[in-house]
Amino acid sequence: MRILITGGAGFIGSHLCDRYLTEGHEVIAMDNLSTGSVDNIAHLAGHPRFHFIKHDVTRYIYVAGPLDEVLHLASLPSPVDYLQLPIQTLKVGALGTHNTLGLALAKGAKFLLASTSETYGDPLVHPQPESYWGNVNPVGPRGVYDESKRFAEALTMAYHRYHGVDTRIVRIFNTYGPRMRADDGRVVPNFVCQALRGEPLTVYDHGEHTRSFCFVSDLVEGIVRLAASEVHDPVNLGNPREFTILEFAQQVLAATGSASEITFVQPSDERTRDDPKVRCPDITRAKTLLDWEPQVPVEEGLQRAAAYFRTKLD
Ligand code: UDP
Repeated sequence: MRILITGGAGFIGSHLCDRYLTEGHEVIAMDNLSTGSVDNIAHLAGHPRFHFIKHDVTRYIYVAGPLDEVLHLASLPSPVDYLQLPIQTLKVGALGTHNTLGLALAKGAKFLLASTSETYGDPLVHPQPESYWGNVNPVGPRGVYDESKRFAEALTMAYHRYHGVDTRIVRIFNTYGPRMRADDGRVVPNFVCQALRGEPLTVYDHGEHTRSFCFVSDLVEGIVRLAASEVHDPVNLGNPREFTILEFAQQVLAATGSASEITFVQPSDERTRDDPKVRCPDITRAKTLLDWEPQVPVEEGLQRAAAYFRTKLD
């Protein structure tokens, strides 16, 4: 197949490039490098089946030749990034999804949208099944990300129903691993880098909110299975093992063997407003339809992530 991956120089996108190249496909990575990095794809330079196009998906997209699949990963998923770039975040979810769907329609290609557990907002149903419509504050600071993805899902289903585009939607829950930006501000790079530097781990508020963390190789396996399936409704992919953030800080200390302390801090109101109090995927649909469930325990995944961040800090 000939596959376009937007956000191909990003954390998850670059792992997908690797995976599809290993399977013998031709891969075109598109990225504007705003949060992605050429470091993530440097090892693919010169690969005969790999191409890189530096382009912003919010502008008209031109790709020469046929395409079998368009995987739309381009996004600003870190709260720190999307709070800093709110309009770009809305544009990449809305205009970027419109352009990539239009491209898939023109090329007769399959389309996969990388959506998010943030479509559930601060959930009132726990764990979250795909049938839950969510609890999102459209005018809060996180609304720029949440609503851009909700719009992207609606647009994807409209292209499926109206134009017959062969679409998929994956709702990605917190994912971590090598190639995350050390300074992206999310909890995994923050805690792991703090632990490696011997600095205190910054737990926000009282660390009572919960998250569930999926290692990137598990997520990639799920995305590849979903892309190859005939499932058009959204599918949650994530690891259902749930931690409070305080428990997670202790996991990071254990995985890194760090003697760092844990400190409780109060970040900006913007950073914590509407922060989901709980989050855990119901993965029944992925299990049933894709025969998928995560394989990498968090103890092991954190060690692999720490090995990566250690090289970055060195
Ligand atoms: N968090 C924290 N300390 C940090 C970074 C994040 O306690 O240094 C908390 C944050 O308030 C949230 C959770 O960790 O409750 C996950 O935050 P993250 O930014 O990783 O992503 P989110 O899941 O909110 O999109």
